[in-house]
Amino acid sequence: MMNRRQVLLGSALLPAARTGLAVPTAARMIVISSANGLRACSRTMELLKSGQDTLDAVVAGVNINEEDPEDSSVGFGGLPNEDGVVELDASVMHGPTRRCGSVASLRNIKTPSKVARLVMDQTDHVMLAGEGALRFAKAFGLPEDNLLTEKSRLAWLVWKKSLRDSGGHNNWGPGLDAPPERPPASLKRDFPNVDEETLAWAWEVAIHPPTGTINCLALNPKGELSGVTTTSGLAWKIPGRVGDSPVLGAGLWVDQDVGGAGSTGRGEENLRVAGAHTIVENMRRGMSAKEACLDALKRVARNFDNDAARLAQFDLNFYALRKDGDYAGAALWSGRLRQGKIVPITFAVNDGGESRLENCVYLLEKK
Ligand code: ASP
Repeated sequence: MMNRRQVLLGSALLPAARTGLAVPTAARMIVISSANGLRACSRTMELLKSGQDTLDAVVAGVNINEEDPEDSSVGFGGLPNEDGVVELDASVMHGPTRRCGSVASLRNIKTPSKVARLVMDQTDHVMLAGEGALRFAKAFGLPEDNLLTEKSRLAWLVWKKSLRDSGGHNNWGPGLDAPPERPPASLKRDFPNVDEETLAWAWEVAIHPPTGTINCLALNPKGELSGVTTTSGLAWKIPGRVGDSPVLGAGLWVDQDVGGAGSTGRGEENLRVAGAHTIVENMRRGMSAKEACLDALKRVARNFDNDAARLAQFDLNFYALRKDGDYAGAALWSGRLRQGKIVPITFAVNDGGESRLENCVYLLEKK
């Protein structure tokens, strides 16, 4: 006969995948990530199945995004800072050895997650930043590259052109002697060889500087956990701005006894609640992954006195994976406005088959 605790646990095991909660069972292999990580989850799962270490697997997974010039939120092709220079942040945490490493404001290296891993493995430090982080990466043979693609350079130029003084003037356009321009209509004239879709994208990211990141967490059948978070951070940031992704306890936290958590979205707000650490500690006290993430989001809302109008200015998402396989993706808002429609916020999951997107649970309803 089941005792009360087993009954309670049993009720918590009811399928609830649509709400972002999984069915915890022993010895599950699970990988979760932000919504841009379908391929990363698949590669991570493949490596877990072949018996690779959880940290090796998640880093190899997110390397796909870091090396992909089309992912403008991570690594190569990431949107640059206000000077047009790409600066990357990343962190890694290995559950079994309880070790971690991170890099901040790293330039010219496509795969900051590999550098964070090297900081963990090859130094007596946890975090390297800026010029020192680049020199360290080069010492280990990582190649230097220009991380600005034609597409991200275009977006940066469009952003420069979008800036106006109070008289509506901007130096990054035809001079005062030229016919007056009214963006975005003039963009086609400035970039005649760029297609309309790319120009529309560039204008959108110029006007609404996006954030974007990949966080990936993995659990293997031995119950071992690891995590990684990697990003190019906030577009058009002040050079040297560091978000939450490389800050252990905010953008990533893994505790082998409990589980792991990570974040994407506006790093400044996550830093003010130490989100990933808060979530793992919530799970240690018995909360489900979903409850733990929602509690952290409530702390974010509290920092704005629960003022929906101010909270509407940003997005923040958390991801959590408990050691027993319970997992969740959680978002501050129920969705994002895209072309007049509210699109739900999702996260990627792979539990052994194809990677899929599931809807995040959320704190506030987007109207
Ligand atoms: N959290 C990242 C940062 O603030 C950006 C993002 O996830 O969108 O740098």
